[in-house]
Amino acid sequence: MRTLVWFRGKDLRVHDHAPLADAAGAGDVIPLFVLDPYFFAPARARRLPHRMQFLLESLRELEVSIAARGSRLLIVPGRSVAVVPRLVRAWRVDRVVGYAWAAPVGRERDRRVAERLRVPFDRYDGETLLAPGTLRSGSGTPYAVFTAFARAFHRAALIGSPVTALRKLPSLPRDLDANTVSVPTLEELGIAHNPQLQRGGEQAARRRLHRFVSGPGRLYHERRDRMDEDGTSRLSCDLKFGTLSIRTVWSAVSRSLAGAARRAFLNELVWREFMHSTLVDRPDLMTKPFRTDFEGFPWRYSLDAGLGSRELRSAHREGSSPGIADPSLRREATARAHWRAWVRGATGYPIVDASARQLLAEGFVHNRARMISASFLTKHLLIDYRRGEAHYMRYLTDGDWANNNGGWQWSAGCGADAQPYFRVFNPVTQGVKFDASGAYVRRWVPEIATLPDAYIHAPWTAPRTVLRDAGIVLGRHYPRPIVDHQSARERFLETAASHLRR
Ligand code: FAD
Repeated sequence: MRTLVWFRGKDLRVHDHAPLADAAGAGDVIPLFVLDPYFFAPARARRLPHRMQFLLESLRELEVSIAARGSRLLIVPGRSVAVVPRLVRAWRVDRVVGYAWAAPVGRERDRRVAERLRVPFDRYDGETLLAPGTLRSGSGTPYAVFTAFARAFHRAALIGSPVTALRKLPSLPRDLDANTVSVPTLEELGIAHNPQLQRGGEQAARRRLHRFVSGPGRLYHERRDRMDEDGTSRLSCDLKFGTLSIRTVWSAVSRSLAGAARRAFLNELVWREFMHSTLVDRPDLMTKPFRTDFEGFPWRYSLDAGLGSRELRSAHREGSSPGIADPSLRREATARAHWRAWVRGATGYPIVDASARQLLAEGFVHNRARMISASFLTKHLLIDYRRGEAHYMRYLTDGDWANNNGGWQWSAGCGADAQPYFRVFNPVTQGVKFDASGAYVRRWVPEIATLPDAYIHAPWTAPRTVLRDAGIVLGRHYPRPIVDHQSARERFLETAASHLRR
């Protein structure tokens, strides 16, 4: 039996890799990675600079790990749908194996590849703990609410132990005529190396897991929401790229943590299961809201908005809107200016700005900051969640179709959530509660770092003397708020109520 083990970017490891282990027990093994232009064409790769850096580091390490075990990872450029069937024929492969993806783009790719193959293409479950799209309520429908999903998950899940990496792999068959290339460098793709990103690769991932379970993990239940503490695992990139298997994380946490910390952490992994399962059941979520009554929501800056008239384009360039006569164009120009302020971290709300800047610099944002920031964009600014979702996908190293889409839809009020849409986070009270020391804001918004704690989350409330002593002039060193919290909240609630009454 000759098996092609197709690594596809969500399984970049040798530990607990079931397709690889099975193949090695059955005869010849050919490890393959395809450099598909869908991701690796330089123009596309440059649009995902952080994910690309993590992925290339992980791929390079995988290459070394496989070589150390006596085989070789073959890297072949081209479109997967053409390359894989061609290689299977040329190399007389009997079976193709790999991990299934939950994301629609991967499922469609696999469907097309399978159609063109004359040998079995076995897609293993393993991106999640339970095969996504299989849990069903008593009436046979997918779960629409997390708590019910979680209960069913705990009833159904039988989570096995991870398998350690094989020490040796069968050497690569000699008769392969392969047009292989090496892992591209960031420079070749036109991407500058970012030293602030988490390091890719299985070894760094295993170190992160160990550090977490033997340190901050013990207080996870108390600290996970604190943006000013190092209280979360930072394993999202590893779960996204598969430098750790979900089973490895689940079992390490189950073994090493106890009580409330363990429960709280495993609950987050079940959220991940829920998001992936929901996307498999509803692939239309990539373009549509989960709550169908949100379709056609009157976002001020919808994803569908093109660049409007000449008048609007020139206002856009100048970054101003008062000169525009038409009120609807004026509204859109203001919304565009608000969008740019949100992206740059210049909304005048320190916690929102800190999260925007952390994203651009580190490719990571704390979960609480993601929720506040996404709520602010969609509810305070009434800007289409799909714009925020796409921006996060561009810059998050852990950018993941299921979790990101689920997180944005949940934050916008149109997602799978037991609560109705009217939760609107107050960026000031959220900051006071979850960045109590102000350390998160001070790190990312250094221009207001000298403000006393009492004003760090609402600089505009500081008395003139305090601002003067801190050396800050609002509007010059740091913006005043671009919207007023109370009126923005009311505007969202009225807009949503009237849309849903239609
Ligand atoms: P920890 O708190 O240590 O959690 C452990 C793991 O549980 C995470 O690594 C992640 O895999 C999973 N997890 C935690 N929270 C969630 C959640 N709410 N939904 C699903 N899985 C979760 N997560 C991503 O992995 N990729 C994304 O692209 C992404 N986009 C998001 C966008 C928005 C608007 C929001 C509100 C959330 C998003 N999340 C995303 C979920 C969450 O913010 C991150 O998983 C988390 O912040 C990663 O940090 P951590 O690994 O330290 O998390």
